[in-house]
This record gives sequence, C-alpha cells and structure tokens, in this order.
Amino acid sequence: MTTEHYDVIIIGTGAGGGTLAHKLAPSGKRILLLERGGYLPREPENWDSREVFINDRYLSGEVWYDKDGDAFKPHQQYFVGGNTKFYGAVLFRLRERDFGEVRHYGGLSPAWPISYRDLEPHYAEAEKLYLVHGQAGEDPTEPPRSGPFPYPQVSHEPRIQQLSDDFEKSGHRPFHLPVGVDLNESDPEAGRCVRCDRFDGFPCLTDGKADAHVRCVRPALKHGNVTLVTHAKAERLVTDSRGRSVTEVVVDRRGARETYSGDVVVVSCGAVNSAALLLKSANDQHPNGLANASDVVGRHYMAHINSGVIAISQTPNLTKFQKTLGINDYYWGAADSELPLGHIQMLGKSDRNILRGGAPWFAPGLALDYIAKHAIDFWITTEDLPHPANRVTVDRRGSIHLAKTYHNLEPHKRLLAKLKGLMGPLGCHDAAIPAWSILDQRIPLAGVAHQSGTVRFGDDPKTSALDVNCRAHDIDNLYVVDTSFFPSSSAVNPALTAMANALRVGDHLLERFDAHLTTAFQPASDGRLQEVDS
Ligand SMILES: Cc1cc2nc3c(=O)[nH]c(=O)nc-3n(C[C@H](O)[C@H](O)[C@H](O)COP(=O)(O)OP(=O)(O)OC[C@H]3O[C@@H](n4cnc5c(N)ncnc54)[C@H](O)[C@@H]3O)c2cc1C
Ligand code: SF4
Repeated sequence: MTTEHYDVIIIGTGAGGGTLAHKLAPSGKRILLLERGGYLPREPENWDSREVFINDRYLSGEVWYDKDGDAFKPHQQYFVGGNTKFYGAVLFRLRERDFGEVRHYGGLSPAWPISYRDLEPHYAEAEKLYLVHGQAGEDPTEPPRSGPFPYPQVSHEPRIQQLSDDFEKSGHRPFHLPVGVDLNESDPEAGRCVRCDRFDGFPCLTDGKADAHVRCVRPALKHGNVTLVTHAKAERLVTDSRGRSVTEVVVDRRGARETYSGDVVVVSCGAVNSAALLLKSANDQHPNGLANASDVVGRHYMAHINSGVIAISQTPNLTKFQKTLGINDYYWGAADSELPLGHIQMLGKSDRNILRGGAPWFAPGLALDYIAKHAIDFWITTEDLPHPANRVTVDRRGSIHLAKTYHNLEPHKRLLAKLKGLMGPLGCHDAAIPAWSILDQRIPLAGVAHQSGTVRFGDDPKTSALDVNCRAHDIDNLYVVDTSFFPSSSAVNPALTAMANALRVGDHLLERFDAHLTTAFQPASDGRLQEVDS
C-alpha cells in the first residue's frame, strides 16, 4: 500500500476546515481534504420537515454514550460542508468582553489568549466570504468594526417588524440578525435564496445559504492543487518515533484502510470528533493521546445552554424567513441582575412536523397546525462554562462517551422568565408557552450543534493543548481549527468565530510555508536561488 503525500491535509470540511481550504487554495500548495461524509444529496426531501425532523433523514445514525453509560443518538450529520449545511447561518462576532475573563452565576468564563482586535480583520474577511447581511450600530453589545457589514440587513417581514416595534416600545433595542445568505432584496434575480421558511435546520435546495460547502469547498476545488476525498473517515494519526510530528493519517474509506501523509496536518472534525481522533491516536510517546500532555483534550466540552421558546401570537404569524430579529439587552445583565443572562434570537419558522419532531411529548391532542400558524419561535442562549469533568472520552471499541453537567443554569432561567414576562406586551399568550420550553434537564445532551472547547488553545502548555496559532504545543505539524479551540463559549452562535479563526490560522500557515521556502532556497554567490537542506 502506498501513502500519498501532500503539503497540507485538512480533516473535515465544515466551518473550520472548509474555510481554511478556501484560504490556502490559491497558494498552489498540494492540499488534501478528507471528509467522512459524502455530498449532501440535493433532493425535494431537503425541505421536507417530516423527513428532516421526524425521520432523521440526514442524521449519522451513530450511537454515543452519556456519563451513565446510557446510549443516545447525537444530532450529528456528516456531509461536505459539515454542520453548516444545516445551520441557521446567524453569523455573529463574539463581543469584545467575551475575550476577557467574565464572571457568571455558575463561575468564571476564562480569557482567550488573543483579543477581539486580533481577530477583527479576520471577522471582516469571514463576513465577506460568507455573505453576511446586517446593520451596524443597532446591537447594543456589538463590538467595534473596521467597516460596515458587507451586505445590507435582511428585512423583517410584517409580523416580525411588528414584534421589533413592540420590543422597542417596551424599552428594548432590537436589531437585525447578521445572516449569511445569498439574497439580494433589491434584485431578487441576483441571488440564489428564494426567502423560504426552510432556513434553520434544513439544507438549502437552491444553494442560497452561505455554507462551507457552497462558499468555500466548491470554489477551492476549482484549484488544481486541491483534492477532496469523500467517505474518508480519519481513524488515527501516526507520529514519528520521537512523537514530534504526524507522519500518517490512517483513513477508513468505506471499509478499506488508506493512508495519507502531509507536511502539515489540520484536524477539523468538530469539537467532539476532533477530540476523539486525538485521543484514539495515543501511542508510546503520547500515551494520553496526541496534543494531550496537558490532559485537557476532550475536557471542557461546551454546547451553549439553549432553549427553543414557542410563543403563541394572538394574530396568525405568516412569516416565512423569520430569522431576522435579535435581542441582546440582557447579554451582560439586567436591572435585577449584575451578571450576564444571554442572547435572544428568532428561530426559523416552525411547522407541525418541526414542533412534533423537536418535542415528541408535546401534548398530543393539541392542534399543532393552529399552534404552528400562530407561533412566534425564539431561541435563547446562555453562556455554557468550561468544566474539566464535562468531557469526551473514547472506549476500547472506539465509541464516543460524552459526560455533561450544566453549571450556569441560573441565568438561563432568568432569561427565560424575562422573555415569558414580555409575551403579554408583545401580543402573545404567555400561558400558552408550552412547558417543554422551560429549560433544565429538558435540554437534550444529543443537541450538539454548538459543541466547542475540547482542544482549547492558550499560552500555557500545562493548561491548553494548542498554542496561540492553534498548533499543538507538543507536535510541530499538527493544527486544530474547528470550534474545539474555544476556551469559552460566549452566548452568541459560534460558526463565524471558527471561520474567522481558520482564516487567521491560514495566514499563519502561509507565513510558515514562506519561511520554509526561504530556508529551502537560498541565494548562491552568483545570486541564483539554490536548494538547501531545510
Ligand atoms: C441545526 C443547526 C443550526 C445551527 N445554526 C447555527 C447558526 O445559526 N449560527 C452559527 O454560528 N452556528 C450554528 N450552528 C453551529 C455550526 O454549524 C457549527 O458551530 C459549525 O459548523 C462548527 O464548525 P466545525 O468546523 O467545528 O465543525 P463542522 O462544521 O461540524 O465540521 C466538521 C466536519 O468534519 C467531518 N468529520 C468528522 N469526523 C471526521 C473524521 N473522523 N474524518 C473525516 N471527517 C470527519 C464532518 O463530517 C464535518 O464535515 C448550527 C448547527 C446546527 C446543527
Ligand atoms: S431561505 Fe433562502 S437560503 Fe434559506 S433555505 Fe430558503 S432559499 Fe435557501
């Protein structure tokens, strides 16, 4: 069996890996993308809520185990583009203070080794790449920007505009959510989005959603130096005898074993799978797993504390594209809370299958169609805190175990109470908010959409796995660029930060390649370049 060699191997094609591939593609370097899934089929079922939410058509079917050893089916999907094929494309920058240490009800949210200013230019680059539409100056927690959003805000439909006005009347500062979508409202022919009600949790049939496949992997593959191998699940990374660099990526390709090697190997499998891959790659030099001298790999798993809230409006809600409104007035606290509560945003519009799929125990006998027609759907998020006991481990059979206890529930309860308290003034029946929307043990562990934190970066090799460039402290050519690197989770959606960071790491890798070039080729006495040992 021969091992094919590349300059860079990127494992995983989601927000992190796909974006990095796009950044490196013009360099001319030989780049290999390994993706365990295939292309997501474009078919009418993409927009069929029964197929997506009840029949789980696109879920991986994997089984993981919780901290008690009980089996559960994670909400994981493996396709080119990763979870961005399904995401709501709300693309937030972290708030400036999120990069520092923040005190919460449940404990401290740690500081990042970089500041908001370090990431700002990369956020701007990522917003362009992912077609982010938004309106600067509305969100009271918005960090400073070097320029306006690259595209104008997505307009509210009438019921959401009414909601926005009502929020304003009740003393809030509602804002247009930053959304990554190929939509041109002044010239609908110019964009692929048809502004439907299938945005959040569905793949997009028209390629209108700015996901990592459409925006990054597809254009990257137009470069002859970029290769994608699908159905290629990385099973193990092999190191040299001293354990200083990764020499081989061992892949399971539809049951056959293949190996690949790269000068640089970038892991970007999502926070759970990246940790699992590093742990499974333990060897004599790295008995706890690769990049794990600190014993942090797999630990500090975060997933945000999220609740869906359905408010039943007195008037029918005919909105199609509902994901346009956000509220951050409680992000850092409230009149009755010195500590942060979190963020409120609209969800994609529900229908009866989404309601039933999301909450199978939802009072059967109730008129789901009536509820869906009148529902205004919110999503509330509170910061989840990193805790070493919340961790990914892998057993001898290679199965994933995910131990999770939430430590910051108090602000989430308070945020939920705030939203419920507003329902009357906002023209909704507060009594009709179904009980399942009220948090606590009702947050399913299987909801891993916002997973992060399992291979954290930092300055200190004793408390972090990666250095500030997301390179493993103890392995020279190994990087991780998915949401694993987050030291804290903030309370806004994670994908733009993974994308911006991948662009930042991309700049670092381009410099690294240049540095190698200049040492590999040096001017001889006659001025011509000559190759030297690097
Ligand atoms: C329904 C839903 C809605 C969401 N909405 C939003 C939103 O509105 N805004 C937001 O910011 N975020 C949202 N998210 C979260 C967002 O999608 C993730 O934060 C983001 O995709 C994470 O990027 P990543 O690179 O870490 O991982 P992923 O995007 O998951 O990419 C990981 C990739 O690695 C592949 N892979 C895994 N294991 C292996 C292996 N062993 N070998 C090879 N390949 C492997 C996977 O198939 C996948 O392609 C949502 C997620 C979901 C599911
Ligand atoms: S709203 Fe637009 S981007 Fe979203 S699924 Fe519909 S067509 Fe695609």
